[in-house]
Amino acid sequence: MPVVHVDLKRGGYAHDLHSAPVAARIRAIAGDPRCRRVLGSIPCTTWSPARSAPGEGWLSHSKPMRRCSLGDDRRTGVPGPDGKLPEAVEKANACADLLADACASCFGNGGDYIIETTPSRGRGAAYPIRGREDHVGMLDHPSMVKLAGTTGAHVLHFDQCMTRDDPELCPEKKTVLLYSPRLAAVITREFAPLMCNHSAGVHPSMLGLSSGGEARSSQWEQYSSNMNARLARCLGHESAPAGGAVGARAAAAGAERA
Ligand SMILES: [Zn+2]
Repeated sequence: MPVVHVDLKRGGYAHDLHSAPVAARIRAIAGDPRCRRVLGSIPCTTWSPARSAPGEGWLSHSKPMRRCSLGDDRRTGVPGPDGKLPEAVEKANACADLLADACASCFGNGGDYIIETTPSRGRGAAYPIRGREDHVGMLDHPSMVKLAGTTGAHVLHFDQCMTRDDPELCPEKKTVLLYSPRLAAVITREFAPLMCNHSAGVHPSMLGLSSGGEARSSQWEQYSSNMNARLARCLGHESAPAGGAVGARAAAAGAERA
C-alpha cells in the first residue's frame, strides 16, 4: 500500500497542516476513493493535561487554554483579554477539524482511520485525574465528537511504556486511539494488552522542563519502533470487505443517530 506521509520532519513547510494549500490537498487526497486508511496524530499542546496540572513553579504559569467547567463550556478555547481566541488555539482547532474531515471522507469511501492522542483527564473521562476536572482532551473537540458519532468509532487506551525497553528511562504515557469499528479486532489484539505493569514510581515524570529548557513531555512525542510496527499491522490489516457503499451507509446511519 503506497503511503503519503505528511510530516513536518520530512517535508518542512510543504507539510504544514496549518497552511491552507496543504490542508486543501489533504482534503482532496483523503476524499479520493483510492485512500484506504488515515492515521492521524496532530500536536496536542493546547489540549495537554500538563496545562491543567495544579502545580508550583513553572506549572503555575502554565494555564489551560481550554476548559469545560460545569455550566461554562470553553472546549474550543478560552478567549484572551481581547475577547479573541489565542492564535495557537485557533490553529489547533483548524488542525483537529482537518483531521476529522479527512477521517470522515476516507470512512465514507469504505476506508478506515486511526487517530492517536492524549486522553481526556476531566470529569467523566475514562482516566480522570483529581484536580483536573475541567480538562478538555482533543477527542472532546466538537469535530472529533461528531466524527466518533457519525462513524460509530471505538476508543482504546494503552500505555506507551509497554512498547519501550527500559521503564526507568521512559514515562508511562497513557495514550488513546479513536478508530473506525472495522479495525476493532486488530487494534484490540495489538494494543489492549499494553497496560503498564511496572512497579509504582519506576517511571520518570513527563512534567517539568529538561536541563535544556524544553518541556520534558516533548521528547516522548516520537513513537517507539515497537509502537510503529503495531500501528503498521493495524493499517495493513484487511478488514472485512465493506466497499464504498457500505461505508457510506454506515456514515449515513451514524448521521441519523447524531
Ligand atoms: Zn509502565
